[in-house]
Amino acid sequence: MKIHEYQAKSILNQYGVRIPRGEVAETAEKAYEIAKDIGPKVVVKAQIHAGGRGKGGGVKLANTPEEAQERAREIIGMNLVTHQTGPEGKLVKTILVEEALDIAKELYIGIVIDRAKEAPVVMASSEGGMEIEKVAAETPELIFKEYINPATGFLPFQARKLAFQLGLEGNTFKQAVKFLLTLYKAFESTDASLAEINPLLITGQGDVLALDAKMNFDDNALVRHPNIKGMRDLDEEEPLEVEASEFDLNYIKLDGNVGCMVNGAGLAMATMDIIMYSGGMPANFLDVGGGVSEEAVKNAFKILISDKDVKAALINIFGGIVRCDLVANGIVKAARELELNIPMVIRLEGTNVELGKKILEDSGLAFFSASSMKEAAEKVVPLASQ
Ligand code: ADP
Ligand code: MG
Repeated sequence: MKIHEYQAKSILNQYGVRIPRGEVAETAEKAYEIAKDIGPKVVVKAQIHAGGRGKGGGVKLANTPEEAQERAREIIGMNLVTHQTGPEGKLVKTILVEEALDIAKELYIGIVIDRAKEAPVVMASSEGGMEIEKVAAETPELIFKEYINPATGFLPFQARKLAFQLGLEGNTFKQAVKFLLTLYKAFESTDASLAEINPLLITGQGDVLALDAKMNFDDNALVRHPNIKGMRDLDEEEPLEVEASEFDLNYIKLDGNVGCMVNGAGLAMATMDIIMYSGGMPANFLDVGGGVSEEAVKNAFKILISDKDVKAALINIFGGIVRCDLVANGIVKAARELELNIPMVIRLEGTNVELGKKILEDSGLAFFSASSMKEAAEKVVPLASQ
């Protein structure tokens, strides 16, 4: 799960990470009040679940409360397009009004789980700011890494090593070491999958603060953090994915035009592979679960046909725990109830497959049937490109 910058900052602050003074607003008038309180110089920052806001015009400096109000008026309601939002952009509803700090240097700190090393990794770079992707691609040697043994945690010597590699000295060095350790503590305690501070600010006085903050969390651990779960902003998520999660379906929207409905994650992956192998592009990953019910088939069906990008769909069900006749009944019912407006290729295999196929045939509905995955993929791909 992702959260907004202001939410990440408030969580981090509870663990002792230093952040600028600031408050959220949803109106320009509120922005004026906040700027009067903490200003006069403030930065008005669009709150959306995507980075690159600065370059997209979603982060603006204001020298007076009047200017803050003006900037807030421009940013609230704007459709912010950044390299992370895609060309359709994201509507800004909330802003963070924050004291404008004087920037001596912008550094980078990120903590993620390194799957290959099976451990968290703390990354640091002196080349922070708005172009860290470029640094990672062109000069990866400027990004320093410390892998964390989960049993011992992030050890102070590792934090000192990173602060030293960042070229810090004196009081700034000490503050950076403390910053790194508290950031890790927050990452670990909240079951985060990512904690990124870009930029980490060094002020003219040598103080160290988080100027930006991004945190993602492991969905499976959210039961342990009801307060974080409460920060979920459904407006930032793909509407069909939100609907699917309400039905307990594993659904991820993708870029192609061949919709897939499959039981079991492994079969879903294989189905996506064979669609691509046949020259198509899957429009989604949709796993209805091993023991799929008629109800789940119907819900999944609904999601498939309401995605405007889906031009044809492939239903690939293996009747292991579930019986093919039950699935066939679910498909027929759903197709009758919801208007079936796209060509659909169905491949059933396993328990009661003959009965399942007969139910589909007897329904009189215009399904295309296939007996192997390869045949199904080769049928659905041309149908999607018509
Ligand atoms: P994004 O990463 O989405 O572009 P940031 O929060 O990193 O957004 O802001 C972009 C840039 O704006 C920062 O690199 C920094 O230079 C400047 N900035 C952000 N917040 C402040 C602040 N409170 N005071 C001064 N400058 C800021
Ligand atoms: Mg940033």
